[in-house]
Amino acid sequence: MKNGVVIVGAGHAGVQAAASLREEGYDGPVILVGDENELPYHKPPLSKTFIKDAEAKPQPLRGEAFYSGSAIDYRPGVKVDRIDAGGRLLDLAGGGALAFDHLILATGSRPRTLPLPGSDLSGVVSLRSLADARLIRDLSAQSDEVVILGGGFIGLEIAATLRAAGRTVTVVEAVDRLLGRAVAPVVASHVRQRLEATGVRILTGTSVARLEGENGSVVAAITSSGERLPARMVIVGIGAVPNVELAQQAGLAIANGIRVDHQMRTSAPEILAIGDAASYRHWFTGGDVRLESVQNATDQARLAARTIASHADAYSAVPWFWSDIGDMKLQMVGLTAGGDSHVVLGDLPDNKFSIYHYAGDRLLGIESVNRPGDHMLGRKMLGAGFSPSPQTIADGPEGLKAALAAFLEKEPARAAG
Ligand code: FAD
Ligand code: NAP
Repeated sequence: MKNGVVIVGAGHAGVQAAASLREEGYDGPVILVGDENELPYHKPPLSKTFIKDAEAKPQPLRGEAFYSGSAIDYRPGVKVDRIDAGGRLLDLAGGGALAFDHLILATGSRPRTLPLPGSDLSGVVSLRSLADARLIRDLSAQSDEVVILGGGFIGLEIAATLRAAGRTVTVVEAVDRLLGRAVAPVVASHVRQRLEATGVRILTGTSVARLEGENGSVVAAITSSGERLPARMVIVGIGAVPNVELAQQAGLAIANGIRVDHQMRTSAPEILAIGDAASYRHWFTGGDVRLESVQNATDQARLAARTIASHADAYSAVPWFWSDIGDMKLQMVGLTAGGDSHVVLGDLPDNKFSIYHYAGDRLLGIESVNRPGDHMLGRKMLGAGFSPSPQTIADGPEGLKAALAAFLEKEPARAAG
């Protein structure tokens, strides 16, 4: 325990891991190294509120006093360049080294880039960090027309935010629907309709062939069908790639992310990986996943701290996600890929509904729009391993609550889940 735990990456996962180590009673050194020069901050508000409000401040994950008060040695602006796994040593960019007993890799992911003619023009940006958000906010003040590439969460959240701030916004999505990796077609078409009703233009099944510039700055995006979309800012939101290079160079197993077991250990047992960068066999689906969400980052961080504190529990958190797109609060729980039927509660025209997805008679997950009660109950049901029948769902929330209570009475051990 001489050198303690070094955590690489001071995002959602890294900061939670540091806090959880102390909560677990770990009393050795905890060093949190992050390459951003900021007090660690919440990422979700960046696309939802921060970029449209010149006065908005970043929301810190923890107050400044937390780090000194918990004896967490936070080192901002420090990039780790190399891991010597055998020697348990990190090389830091610009010189210096750090020894560790345990290492937690919480390096996150970065925006996928698009090798387009013109993508190096000024005004072509993506959003991952607070620095990116500040740049987008500044550019947006001078850009009436904005083109967004990618109809995923980031693209649509930014589209709604900038439209509400009065910009002319066009979203260009390569495939024939929005949110293809995230939600069912029925939810995606609902989101599309409501966004379009606010004036966002959405082109699906369309790619951008090149970006046009003047004096080094972007002025338009040209689609594959030849349409010219004027734009002073082009935001690229076409997915994220995991930051695995450090782990790869150290010889750790990689498979669409840094491969970890059910206790967050990599192929070198004293090195753990968590958050967007980690891939694992999911306890719920049996499939290999790499999830990009705050819940995944923080729950894996808690478990990694428990692993280092010599507990042997396995990762079994129920995955959940959320997104705020204009007047829609989307909340998803479970993993719904592979579903073959669904039940709807609520009303699409009212902008309040939930879709319950089934594979056979097993409830896989729930997607809700402006029905937070359904989402919270869904988290309880899936956490308890309770799979109500489609008929029980159709009885509505009261019937479901009663059915869950009856289930937990028969299986009290599940209640904690
Ligand atoms: P990150 O938070 O990305 O942190 C990784 C950190 O490691 C970064 O600071 C990075 O710079 C640093 N790092 C990488 N390599 C090194 C190195 N070699 N040396 C030192 N430091 C290094 N999720 C939701 O569930 N709901 C939302 O509404 C939501 N909204 C989002 C909005 C935006 C704009 C973005 C960008 C993401 C959003 N997400 C949301 C996703 C969520 O933020 C991520 O899943 C989460 O941040 C993952 O946490 P992480 O710690 O793994 O990675
Ligand atoms: P994403 O959800 O993977 O969505 C990217 C979208 O862009 C996909 O629909 C993708 O389609 C499309 N696309 C890919 N190549 C394209 C091209 N050449 N032209 C046009 N469209 C293209 O990722 P994201 O929305 O970029 O988000 C990035 C990261 O931020 C992720 O980690 C995400 O979790 C996080 N984030 C999360 C939230 C949230 O949870 N609320 C909010 C914002 C950001 P295909 O699927 O067909 O490739």
